[in-house]
Amino acid sequence: MDDCIFCKIIEGDIPSRKVYEDDDVIAILDMSQVTKGHTLVISKDHVRNILDYSDELAARVFSKVPNIARAVKSFDPDCKGLNVLMNNEEIASQSVFHSHIHMLPRYDETDGFG
Ligand code: ADP
Repeated sequence: MDDCIFCKIIEGDIPSRKVYEDDDVIAILDMSQVTKGHTLVISKDHVRNILDYSDELAARVFSKVPNIARAVKSFDPDCKGLNVLMNNEEIASQSVFHSHIHMLPRYDETDGFG
């Protein structure tokens, strides 16, 4: 989509800090870094959010999440776990309307989230 920031990132028209890519998803560091290593797993297909997934696309995208979560955790030996979440629609705090999954590495009670 022409005016979609994540489509532009996928196309390479906007720079990003990419940590993973395959045929179905890219994973980039979130510019907000709510916690250190905050990563977004973005579907390469432009789909608005979880409410618009076909079963087939969901199988392709969500099957990647466990391996990417393990990789994100492994980037920092101090990471003790991570939150994995999606915001779907404005009422649920979605601000970029191209499906993405947040991965928030957790270190201790003062790491900035929750
Ligand atoms: P929220 O802004 O409430 O977290 P979303 O769940 O839609 O809503 O998340 C969009 C995320 O995309 C935000 O965490 C934001 O920091 C991130 N973001 C927006 N533009 C970029 C960009 N160019 N590069 C990296 N991250 C981005």
